[in-house]
Amino acid sequence: MFSYWEKKNFLKYDLVVVGAGFVGLSTAIHFSRKRPKSKVLILERGVFPSGASTKNAGFACFGSLTELLDDFWQMTPDEVLALVQRRHQGLQKIRKEFGDKSIAYRPSKGFELLEESQISALDRMDEINQFLKPIFKKPVFTSLKKKKNFGFSDQIKAIVQNDFEGELDPAKYIQALWSEAGKRGIKILTGTEVESVDHTSGIVLAKNHLASDLIEFEANQVAICINAFSKNLLPDLDLEPGRGLVMTSKELDSSIPWKGTFHMDKGYVYFRKVGNRLLLGGARNIDVEVEKTLENHVNPTIKAHLTHLAEDIIFPGKKIVWELEWTGVMAFGSKKTPIIQRIGPKSVIGVRLGGMGVAIGWQVGKELSVLLRNGN
Ligand SMILES: Cc1cc2nc3c(=O)[nH]c(=O)nc-3n(C[C@H](O)[C@H](O)[C@H](O)COP(=O)(O)OP(=O)(O)OC[C@H]3O[C@@H](n4cnc5c(N)ncnc54)[C@H](O)[C@@H]3O)c2cc1C
Repeated sequence: MFSYWEKKNFLKYDLVVVGAGFVGLSTAIHFSRKRPKSKVLILERGVFPSGASTKNAGFACFGSLTELLDDFWQMTPDEVLALVQRRHQGLQKIRKEFGDKSIAYRPSKGFELLEESQISALDRMDEINQFLKPIFKKPVFTSLKKKKNFGFSDQIKAIVQNDFEGELDPAKYIQALWSEAGKRGIKILTGTEVESVDHTSGIVLAKNHLASDLIEFEANQVAICINAFSKNLLPDLDLEPGRGLVMTSKELDSSIPWKGTFHMDKGYVYFRKVGNRLLLGGARNIDVEVEKTLENHVNPTIKAHLTHLAEDIIFPGKKIVWELEWTGVMAFGSKKTPIIQRIGPKSVIGVRLGGMGVAIGWQVGKELSVLLRNGN
């Protein structure tokens, strides 16, 4: 039941964006920069973004050595290079746009821990550095001297350093996007879940726990930016969810002797230091079928595996007490590239960001806003 005033002012927009993660916010901002007079609304089902954008580990990364080697099994060299370029440029752009301070970016370098079974990756390091030279101009990966092993278990046979990786605070990055959206008069309604989008008329039906009827918004254009949740609105997309677990420990009693972003197991496992806590996450590959879900629950098998890595590999012999644990959901498909496409005369979609949405979310939003502007 809406008032005359609500109907007149709140229900009609030039652009309605569904989903307020990195991509939804970025799309709205880019669109409104080119069309400053337009009325833009973002609808978000959660109180905060409730998919991946504030649940992630904050790695500002573009792929570790073994991860990139693995990509060559599924992609052509040109595709791998384009993907790395997109991620690297994406990171440069958000740093320039928002400033390192506001997103708490630190160029702390990345490190990959190799066990015996992965040591052969070192034989291809020079070749990969050469391959990446058009993007970075300098060698990306270097092997650390053996004695500098940061106290990790002897199972770690080598450590590869990546000079171009960094870390940030993903919620601060969202706050920077909120602040930019606010300056542009973009409205964000939270607690509002979209049930359907009519791709021809631009009618968006949404529900809220206080409203007994569905709320009908009318949009000239609709951008669907709901990543892992896309199949709820578009069941035929080449996309499936992949849940990720992250845990942070209690403050450790002795100072953590390393800093930076760390990867293991072809990028499936990652850890960093936050304060004097261990942040550890990933290992979706340990129970991959169960993790193809939108439900936020902790998988005990994965938690046990990560705890083993914390206590036997990262801090051998130390008891790690977890203080916080949470999950978020990513989207994967047959390709590692995002889906950015028009769906109908009035709708577009920008989803399937995989595990590196920090790097590419802003750019995906930009490309989606170009599609929107070309639509009419
Ligand atoms: C555990 C974990 C660790 C990660 N670590 C990293 C990392 O270190 N570095 C990195 O680069 N990337 C990382 N990622 C990936 C990165 O977070 C994602 O790629 C990125 O956040 C995707 O952004 P998005 O805007 O596409 O999706 P999301 O952030 O998922 O946003 C989609 C939004 O749509 C909303 N929504 C869904 N359905 C509806 C609906 N029907 N109506 C209204 N709203 C709806 C959701 O609530 C959500 O807020 C990680 C992800 C996870 C889960």
